[in-house]
Amino acid sequence: MRNIYDLTLNELENYLLSINEKKYRAIQIYDFLYVKKVASFDDMTNLSLELRNKLKEDFVLEKPKLIKEQQDVDVNKYLFKLSDGNLIETVLMKHNYGLSLCVSSEVGCNMGCIFCESGRLKKVRNLSAYELVTQILYVEELTKSRITHVVIMGIGEPFDNYDNIMKFVTIVNDPKGLALGSRHITISTCGIVPKIKKFSEEPFQVNLAISLHAPTDSLRSKIMPINKVYPLDDLINAVKDYIKKTNRRVTFEYILLDNVNDKDSDAIALAKLLKGINCYVNLIPYNESSNFTLKRSNSSQIRTFYDILKKNNINVTIRREFGSKISAACGQLRSNKEE
Ligand code: SAH
Repeated sequence: MRNIYDLTLNELENYLLSINEKKYRAIQIYDFLYVKKVASFDDMTNLSLELRNKLKEDFVLEKPKLIKEQQDVDVNKYLFKLSDGNLIETVLMKHNYGLSLCVSSEVGCNMGCIFCESGRLKKVRNLSAYELVTQILYVEELTKSRITHVVIMGIGEPFDNYDNIMKFVTIVNDPKGLALGSRHITISTCGIVPKIKKFSEEPFQVNLAISLHAPTDSLRSKIMPINKVYPLDDLINAVKDYIKKTNRRVTFEYILLDNVNDKDSDAIALAKLLKGINCYVNLIPYNESSNFTLKRSNSSQIRTFYDILKKNNINVTIRREFGSKISAACGQLRSNKEE
């Protein structure tokens, strides 16, 4: 049976029309789901009993189950079980500007980046839009707070689940629902070029982040297999086109891995690659995992790398760290649970 959180307002309106109900009921239902946040159809008290029963027949109103929660000062991690038993992770980060939720987009991931825990489990399936929506709703319920920002940077490659991700954005962005501003949503991709092109034609003002992690094809192909399919030239050209079309600034994420991609010459090559592009670079200290031998760069090399980019007029920040104590790197909670 369909989950009611999987419907855009428009789909809900069409459904209501199809059962001879008034279209405006969709807004009332959205209000119950996303503003009053009721737990059952029975609580939708201003709908007729008949309609409530019909909704019960046609839909479930269900969130995932919480399996495990880890809390730190500035971060909470949640392990959720989906209705088919698969496990996903969601990470809440407490910023001074609000609460940001890092949601998963797939069960497992097929991208095979050598440093990433998520890909140790190959993709089992895409998450449906409702399985992303309910990650937000559940964490809002648990924390009794409002999530102000969403980053699609958890387990999975969002552009390998494109349609469901766009649907998710439509649902949470709806002013009658969660009304999460599209500028407060960020999609992170490892660089699936045709989808970057497609994304540039979407009506949303959603932010785009690119996981770059290397400034040359030879190095990038070694650590991110997707680069063999969409090499840097294609990727950078797609990003340039995207910026031209949307007028929006793009973020490049760059994990610093000791002795892999953190040399001074890498920083110089990176500055050259990004010269003149309206972007900023987010340097990420690598979150180590016992399943890999890769190490994070030492802090003086992180600083040197940063300084070289700055000197070359690249906008750059070093990402504040969240929860390395509680294995916040994507996929670590799930994979520790399985072992
Ligand atoms: N597949 C998408 C989104 C998920 S990964 C993407 O590749 O962008 C989100 C970000 O976390 C990516 O930049 C990824 O490279 C990074 N990441 C993965 N493992 C990490 C780790 N152990 N420490 C720090 N960042 C990590």
